[in-house]
Amino acid sequence: MTIAATQASPAQDASHGGHAVTARTELEEFRASVRRMVDDRIRPHAAETDRTGTVPEHSRAAFREMELAGLAFPEELGGSGADLHTQVIAVEEVARGCASSASILLTPWAALTPVAVHADPALAATVVPGVARGDELASFCLTEPTGGTDLASLRTRAERVDGGWLLNGQKRFISNAGHSTWYAVLARSGADSSYGVFLVHAGDEGLGFGKPEEKMGFHGFPTADVHLDDVFVPDGHVVGDPARGYQYMMDTLTYTRPLVAAQALGIAQAALDEALAYTAQREQFGQSLSRFQLVRAMVADMATAVAAGRALLHHACDLAVENTSASRAAVSMAKLFCSDTAMSVTTTAVQLHGGNGYMRDYTVERLMRDAKVTQIWEGANELQKMLVAKDAYAAHERR
Ligand SMILES: Cc1cc2nc3c(=O)[nH]c(=O)nc-3n(C[C@H](O)[C@H](O)[C@H](O)COP(=O)(O)OP(=O)(O)OC[C@H]3O[C@@H](n4cnc5c(N)ncnc54)[C@H](O)[C@@H]3O)c2cc1C
Repeated sequence: MTIAATQASPAQDASHGGHAVTARTELEEFRASVRRMVDDRIRPHAAETDRTGTVPEHSRAAFREMELAGLAFPEELGGSGADLHTQVIAVEEVARGCASSASILLTPWAALTPVAVHADPALAATVVPGVARGDELASFCLTEPTGGTDLASLRTRAERVDGGWLLNGQKRFISNAGHSTWYAVLARSGADSSYGVFLVHAGDEGLGFGKPEEKMGFHGFPTADVHLDDVFVPDGHVVGDPARGYQYMMDTLTYTRPLVAAQALGIAQAALDEALAYTAQREQFGQSLSRFQLVRAMVADMATAVAAGRALLHHACDLAVENTSASRAAVSMAKLFCSDTAMSVTTTAVQLHGGNGYMRDYTVERLMRDAKVTQIWEGANELQKMLVAKDAYAAHERR
């Protein structure tokens, strides 16, 4: 299935400017088609993916066949140029079946957004199409051992040499590390506080990886350190202006946070579905759990939070393309609210399953483990609160 290019995504439109909105019925039809695919091909393998810790290749095959891997990229780079609403619906529905698979889908979009928007067309044409087809993966390399929240403190250096740049440093917790073809690396490129985005290819000499991390959740989504030891990056593999990389990455986060919010929402929706099914069939005191008012109140709170999260997320998608302080705040609110909702709804779903909920045999146990990291990555929720509060005070002063 191909999605029509009805709205410029940030990956297409550096100005983050004018756009038309994909019709609501079209979006709902798209949601239904992704849901069917996920129910058939991804959800049935999710527990096995979690148990074995293997990359869900069956999901990658399904993304290729349904042309989902290219949703975020413009048609001239091999994508389908879908709008952000369409992208978050795809991510939410995939995450509802398997959170690891959703990360496999969205991480290359995040990694290559600066390329699609800011890189020389020749570089973009080299790098993006393989990822847009779903044949290749890409990694987004910001975090370092010294910290992920305070990105300005990063130490990885790019030193100017004849014909290019020499990269040295270490990136921490990098998704898809060791599996990607391309690594978009943020590095200090000048004595002042200028940074560049440098594209490292999997075959480049000096690129190495740490041990695969053993994580609480997201077992089908690989994470490892990336080591850069005198890696030569030719001038042709530098994204845009080598002094503006920090701004490119910050702009990218405005677009990727809705994707992470959508992933969290998919996890929350899955937990709600599980809680509804379980409480409808489990009996205590001679009646279904679903008949107890306390249980119904818990379910009502879960359903309300999920619906509110979805509304906030699509509101943020409407604003994200503007890339203003208010739109960045809306995106942060969506990331904050949807990830907190994922944590609270999965925790309640485990509670409603009683002892069974604590057992690996039940899906809610995995969902609760997967939910936790959505409050941490793509900017910890405390950082999102800082951004929301900053905009709230600025708006107050303007009034
Ligand atoms: C599974 C996984 C995959 C990841 N994938 C990637 C990836 O692909 N690419 C990438 O670049 N990074 C990735 N990350 C890194 C992730 O983005 C960071 O872990 C995150 O930004 C937090 O940074 P940190 O871990 O260094 O925590 P720190 O910055 O050390 O912060 C620790 C905690 O302190 C609190 N805190 C920090 N600063 C403040 C403040 N100013 N005010 C109040 N509280 C504060 C927050 O609660 C925060 O969680 C991944 C992380 C995980 C766990």
